[in-house]
Amino acid sequence: MRWPISFKASLGGKFLLSYLLIVLVGVATLLLVTFALAPTLFQAQLMPILQTHPNTLTTTQASQRILGVFLGTLFAALAVAAIAATVTSLAISIFVARRITGPLQQMTQASERISAGHYAERIEIATVHATDELGQLASSINALAMTLELTERRRLEVIGNVTHELRTPIATLEGYLEGLLDGVIEPTPRTWAMLHTEAGRLRRLVDDLQELSRAEARQIPLSLQPVAPQRLVQSALEPLEEQFAEKGLQLQIHVPEVLSPVMVDPNRAVQILTNLLVNALRYTPAPGRVEVAVSREKTKVAFRVSDTGVGISPEQFAHIFERFYRVDKSRSRAFGGSGIGLTIAQSLAQAMGGEIRVESAGLGQGSSFTLTLPQAHM
Ligand code: ADP
Repeated sequence: MRWPISFKASLGGKFLLSYLLIVLVGVATLLLVTFALAPTLFQAQLMPILQTHPNTLTTTQASQRILGVFLGTLFAALAVAAIAATVTSLAISIFVARRITGPLQQMTQASERISAGHYAERIEIATVHATDELGQLASSINALAMTLELTERRRLEVIGNVTHELRTPIATLEGYLEGLLDGVIEPTPRTWAMLHTEAGRLRRLVDDLQELSRAEARQIPLSLQPVAPQRLVQSALEPLEEQFAEKGLQLQIHVPEVLSPVMVDPNRAVQILTNLLVNALRYTPAPGRVEVAVSREKTKVAFRVSDTGVGISPEQFAHIFERFYRVDKSRSRAFGGSGIGLTIAQSLAQAMGGEIRVESAGLGQGSSFTLTLPQAHM
């Protein structure tokens, strides 16, 4: 539903103008009615006196009679004029009050509908009337409704994605268990291993989801301290070196000797770097190369993880940090990826005053992720 709002200047200015208008109209009505009535009334009352006593009144008596008539006329004219002025002022006041309370009532109704869950509700603000406080209030209500609508849409999206992600491992587990119950599948060590893998995938997904909600709500406690960049790279690489070698990927590391320490939570910084390295490992087919380079970038230290892997197309850049986004859904699921690793990593990097950037020349051209973290002020 669209509500019209028709106010131009500021509300304070409008109140001032309306009061002035009411006073002016009141005074004008008073003067007009007085001037219109007084001469006729005066003449009508004076004439009989002059006709009855044309020459018998002394000057003093005549002036007293005229003064009496004048005062009577003035009082009568003013009384009628005051009634007319009051009526017109009242009519204008009601009109002005309606112009202000009307939109307020409409906004109240709109807010009630929004709070009842109708997030698509918007208040229409005519462009020429959008500058006053009522227009601003309407814009704020619209912005609030838009945020609520977006949050609600995201909430539904997340529920949809989580349901979708849970369905696959649950269906696999169910299939295996049914097969085992019916005796169609042999209870071999391989079967148990498959069941274990699927259960592990479910647990990882639930852990990731919990981590994601905490990271996005900025509820992950960070213990910031100055840490040498070399130490972070070493801690992230050590547990993965064997897997790189096993996959046949060449690992190159460029970390200069002299680098300022970064102000980070070391565990969280290592977690981000591990995520970038695991992705490079996942999305780079052998024979390939993964390079880790650290350098200074203004007041930050940049950790660049580049690979010669599958690459990312320009249209995928915008989505790469979105929750549950996977370029190749079936393949990443097979790799065990849930599509929320980078979302968590970006949230963590931002919470520590840094960020993650992505670059790629296109599909099949490899990609490069740069994590920037703030230098510790010495
Ligand atoms: P996942 O757990 O699926 O890897 P991420 O959030 O870590 O989720 O990554 C999101 C998506 O970004 C991945 O599914 C993949 O398509 C893409 N991606 C991440 N890192 C790389 C990389 N180094 N090379 C190519 N694609 C990548």
